[in-house]
Amino acid sequence: MLAIVPSATAPEPIEGDFLGKHIVSVGQFCRSDLDVLFDATSSLRTRVRQSDRGVAEIAKGSVMALLFFESSTRTDLSFQSAMRRLGGEVVGVSNGIRFSSAYKGEDLHDTIRAAGCYADVITLRHPVAGSCRLAARYLGRLDKKVGRRPILINAGDGVGEHPTQALLDLFTILDFKESLDNTCISMVGDLKHGRTVHSLARLVCAWGARGASLHLLSPPDLRMPPEVVEMCRASGVEVSEASRIDDRLRESGVIYWTRVQEERFENPADYEAIKDDFVMTPPLLRSCSPHTLLMHPLPRKHEMGTRADHDELDADDRSVFFQQMENGMFVRMALLAKVLSGAHV
Ligand code: ASP
Repeated sequence: MLAIVPSATAPEPIEGDFLGKHIVSVGQFCRSDLDVLFDATSSLRTRVRQSDRGVAEIAKGSVMALLFFESSTRTDLSFQSAMRRLGGEVVGVSNGIRFSSAYKGEDLHDTIRAAGCYADVITLRHPVAGSCRLAARYLGRLDKKVGRRPILINAGDGVGEHPTQALLDLFTILDFKESLDNTCISMVGDLKHGRTVHSLARLVCAWGARGASLHLLSPPDLRMPPEVVEMCRASGVEVSEASRIDDRLRESGVIYWTRVQEERFENPADYEAIKDDFVMTPPLLRSCSPHTLLMHPLPRKHEMGTRADHDELDADDRSVFFQQMENGMFVRMALLAKVLSGAHV
């Protein structure tokens, strides 16, 4: 079993200096940090598309360890691809729960420090919220023993946060919209368990757009955690909540659809009762603004209808799931370049 003691240690703000910083929360980023990171992301995207060989020098000689104790396709593959495209090496146990010593009963404190003895950066996905903060704290103590201080990156911690997903989501929105000013972002589905929406809502606040608003649509039992809503309101972002599809959703500049997180429900009957409350279908998308962006962190299931519905939604230019995925690799390249070497790219 994975034993976690929650840690209250606040993560270190970036404040213009990425080098050597653990990335555990979007709360570490201010607007100017995001400007720097997104400039680097755009630049790396251009350079990769032009096959600029210099990109492969940025992380040469560095090693990233992937420790994934929860399933993943996009985050796992995009981090691996990002590190390799920067010229770095990747080691890891993608199915950490089954194939690492956690299976023998080792706690996270020891598993993370084992990875820290070998790697320069550790990408951790874990089912328990707060685990990445704890891991970062333990890595911080390792330097007294091994003379190095490896960097921890949160690749999703339970129902907590998913900072790199939020970074790629915001980058993708700005790629299409150029500005968030006066933009309404509707977030739909399982807002209680969805770490991607927890992080994205916080990041929209850090971006500080004028007149940006959040419209939160969920079944009553799956509402956004009150602390996230309060934080958004306190930062001047208008927040509205609803429990059914409405015109505000149809008029939104961004529609961020999410999966009901079956694996987080204790009682399967509760999941069955709620899973079809919000389904994005081609007719619903046809009724939405021609200028909207339809986003989803994926994986998707019936919250986007049938396989035929998926295909029809994908064919709509407003659907940008695949651009989100590709941007995920570029954002992670930029972040790795910054934390590993502070590289100006
Ligand atoms: N892939 C995203 C995550 O890891 C969304 C999801 O699983 O529904 O949080």
